[in-house]
Amino acid sequence: MRVSRHDLWRLILKFRDLVEAHGERCWFHMEDWDLSFEQPADAVDHANAALFGYGPDYRMRCDLSPAYRWPSGAPYDGKPVIAVRVRDAYDWRAYGSHYRRGHTNQALCGFSFAPEEAKRITSEPNCRECLRELALAKALRADGEDSPE
Ligand SMILES: [Zn+2]
Repeated sequence: MRVSRHDLWRLILKFRDLVEAHGERCWFHMEDWDLSFEQPADAVDHANAALFGYGPDYRMRCDLSPAYRWPSGAPYDGKPVIAVRVRDAYDWRAYGSHYRRGHTNQALCGFSFAPEEAKRITSEPNCRECLRELALAKALRADGEDSPE
């Protein structure tokens, strides 16, 4: 089965409208079902960029409306994030590199690790979800700065 980029894009935008109309804190960002909606949105963003040079469409993502519940400790208050490489006992490359969520032992993508498994790095992480989460946080903050409180 094939679904066109345009139809998928429209479905995701309609889904966001329905979520926001459903009520306060009815959807959990970065948990269970949300992760399954983020991936088609990644595909639409990727296709839009490759075919038309469009930037990411943040309307497809969770935002700061009351419909969404965000993970505690998420960097949406503007605190800096730290890039870490997480290893298992035998192989430093095993768990890849991520952005750490505040001072917790959890990555922005939801991956958890023991403190001794993480080593700070200066380069960007290789986790696509962590990179996407940081870009989303920046977009949400930029959006919030436009509108008066
Ligand atoms: Zn990650």
